[in-house]
Amino acid sequence: MTNRKKLLIIGGVAGGASCAARARRLDEDAEIIVFERGPFISFANCGLPYHIGKVIPRERSLIVASPEMFKRQLNIEVRTNNNVKYIDRKNKQIEVENIETGEVYKENYDTLVLSPGAAPLKPGIEGIDLPGIFPLRTIPDMRKIIDWIETRKVKKAAVVGGGFIGLEMTENLKILGIDVTIIEMLPHVMPFLDPEITAFIHNHLKAEDISLLLGSPVIGFKQEDNGMIAVMMKSGRTVEADLIILAIGVRPETELAKTAGLTLGKLGGILVDDQMRTSDEHIYAVGDAVEIKNFVTNAQSLIPLAGPANRQGRIAADVIMGNNGVKPSRFRGSQATMVCGVLGLTIAASGITEKTLNQLDKHDQCPPYEKIYLNPSHYAGYYPGAKPIAMKLIFSTENGRILGVQAVGKEGVEKRIDVIASAIQHNGTVFDLEEAELCYAPQYGSAKDPVNIAGMIASNVLRGHTSVVHWEDLSGFDAYLLDVRDPFEFRKGHVKGAVNIPLAALRSRIQDLPTDREIWTYCLEGKRSYFALRILKQYGFKARNISGGYLMYLAVKQFKDIP
Ligand SMILES: Cc1cc2nc3c(=O)[nH]c(=O)nc-3n(C[C@H](O)[C@H](O)[C@H](O)COP(=O)(O)OP(=O)(O)OC[C@H]3O[C@@H](n4cnc5c(N)ncnc54)[C@H](O)[C@@H]3O)c2cc1C
Repeated sequence: MTNRKKLLIIGGVAGGASCAARARRLDEDAEIIVFERGPFISFANCGLPYHIGKVIPRERSLIVASPEMFKRQLNIEVRTNNNVKYIDRKNKQIEVENIETGEVYKENYDTLVLSPGAAPLKPGIEGIDLPGIFPLRTIPDMRKIIDWIETRKVKKAAVVGGGFIGLEMTENLKILGIDVTIIEMLPHVMPFLDPEITAFIHNHLKAEDISLLLGSPVIGFKQEDNGMIAVMMKSGRTVEADLIILAIGVRPETELAKTAGLTLGKLGGILVDDQMRTSDEHIYAVGDAVEIKNFVTNAQSLIPLAGPANRQGRIAADVIMGNNGVKPSRFRGSQATMVCGVLGLTIAASGITEKTLNQLDKHDQCPPYEKIYLNPSHYAGYYPGAKPIAMKLIFSTENGRILGVQAVGKEGVEKRIDVIASAIQHNGTVFDLEEAELCYAPQYGSAKDPVNIAGMIASNVLRGHTSVVHWEDLSGFDAYLLDVRDPFEFRKGHVKGAVNIPLAALRSRIQDLPTDREIWTYCLEGKRSYFALRILKQYGFKARNISGGYLMYLAVKQFKDIP
């Protein structure tokens, strides 16, 4: 008992609770105390929007574990409503305030773990503290929103911020029969995705009767005489609502770390090594509060997601308690694998986006890359109910390494992203996707799964079997645009200046095509135009296929001024 370790953990939700539980499993003897300033530990933040929408009917379901359960099952002491105010590194002590009694006390540690999370951003704009404006992070936040909806009989809500919490709140408010307007500063929702992929989300939201105000920075809020709140936008426009959800992002909670003199990173998170150790060897930090390496680029990143927080908590416990000298646990970085659902649409991604790649470009770190778009069915097209998935795959042109993937659709999206995420984690290439052996029966997938198809298209690019080009390259380029869809499709809508020769008629009309210009082929999704390209190439034409076809044309056109 003399060498009994004393481990203190600040923050009792995702990272903190998983660290505590793992630490106990590794060391039955250690003294472990968790400090949580809120009234609950181990609650499902990710489930909060769904209790507001009554999809998760009982609040109790959100509480994964209680302090009593921690004591009973793990012999871990949990002190809820206890706010850690100060870390005295010299004396290896923390100062804590019991919020209920006001008592302030000290507690010594051998090792300290910080998992304080990230706080919702709250800009200092006019009216931000008006009643009726709510962030959503905790169970008490959620209760306030539910109470407001019920007592005020809310009919109209404005969700400020179109990220994943904003979209999840939109879904749940809509389920309650509330009219929702999403107000987003950027020209598109889901800020961390590439714009053209979000076009599919915009179309879906509009079809579901959600008002979408994009490119609309909010500059303030005003209380109206009729009891509603006016959301004022930079454009001069205002929207009235009786509930405002503020979901404009989060910032790492680093005050404790900062005052303790721990090193912070350039992005404002706590700096840790790959074993979650901070600049003080006795203090570890995990979760939303830390800066981690992006797995694909190696760049420092803030990735506030539950998966990384849980894994980091476990790794910190392994490192602190030791894992018998067998393969030391290390965090290999995060690739920001995410999924979000909104009113029947699934949005998922892993790895990096083109947007991020182009930011890297400024620092000469951007690897040469190519992208492809595809729109395969989530299972065999002949089986009833097959739904399309809009996918974008980004890969290195040097070696085919998969850099990132984004997808949107109604079915089967997360399954494909999980498979590709797994390939990314193993530094997989597009050739691996081409070869991936995945399960197939018509109601589950296709003999050529969307994952295979993505790999095949990208491999065709790298092998020179196809040359892709993108709609944004069209401006200022004197290409001969060849639309190979059927005439009835062409009549419904086409790109200005395009000539329609359906794929089936191409060989017989080959003499109509110019030999002095590049021919850019397109169809609805990019498949028939690829077949056309193969014909043209073999007849000696200079041809390229516009990836993603007319569907991507409509998506890109939402953001770019293309012909
Ligand atoms: C509404 C919502 C939905 C989400 N949905 C998803 C999702 O679907 N998928 C996903 O991957 N992620 C989701 N997330 C993000 C995910 O919940 C976080 O990434 C994860 O909880 C981070 O874990 P953490 O331990 O770092 O911080 P948290 O889970 O936030 O825990 C930090 C805790 O530390 C406590 N604390 C802070 N400072 C102190 C102090 N000084 N003293 C004592 N206690 C302190 C806080 O009260 C807090 O409870 C969602 C988040 C929210 C808010």
